[in-house]
Amino acid sequence: MSIQKKIEDIKQELPPSVVLIAVSKTHPAEAIMEAYNGGQRDFGENRPQELVAKYEALPRDIRWHMIGSLQTNKVKYIAPFVYLIHSVDSEKLLEVINKEGAKNNRIIDVLMEIHIADENTKHGWEPDELSAYMKSEKWLALPYIRIRGVMGMATFTDDREQVHNEFRNLKRLFGKIKQDNPKTGDIFDTISMGMSGDYPIAIEEGSTMVRIGSAIFGAREYKK
Ligand SMILES: *Cc1c(COP(=O)(O)O)cnc(C)c1O
Repeated sequence: MSIQKKIEDIKQELPPSVVLIAVSKTHPAEAIMEAYNGGQRDFGENRPQELVAKYEALPRDIRWHMIGSLQTNKVKYIAPFVYLIHSVDSEKLLEVINKEGAKNNRIIDVLMEIHIADENTKHGWEPDELSAYMKSEKWLALPYIRIRGVMGMATFTDDREQVHNEFRNLKRLFGKIKQDNPKTGDIFDTISMGMSGDYPIAIEEGSTMVRIGSAIFGAREYKK
């Protein structure tokens, strides 16, 4: 099945308000162009260097999403153009993004990644830690960032009930942050959850943005 057909099929399953991000990491520019020519504009990458190379090679109206863990010393490479950073997991990183936004004279949209999985390996704020940070209102002093919502990854498991519970928990945390921090405003509207293996569950639990790679582009081959 073609990349375009796979995207069409997935879109059929998504409510119209849910944004589909085609996760193109490790896949070549030609694969991205095939999706692009079918109308896809949101693409996700997880390595800054790869993101920059693809940004430079591909059409300028692509919206590039940084979805992987981001080191503070790499922010400067993507700050001039990145559309949304999904993986903010510390105050330090937020401050660096703000600084790089100032240098580029642009406001950078971000999501707070929350650790919802039952695995130590996944990144993100612990829920209590994020609640405390939001209540501190320190983020209000960072004019070059806008906090648009939250992101999370569920445990990689066959236990569907567990995945439901983790996504439900992310949605609940989103609602609580919004309620406790009215200064986040109307732009705090995004819940990025759901990947190839679990996006139907994420949709049921209220996702507004899904990040889908292998179900569109096929399996990834990592270079050793
Ligand atoms: C790779 C990746 C995805 C997409 O994964 P698939 O299982 O291929 O759909 C989504 N989110 C993040 C953070 C990723 O790193």
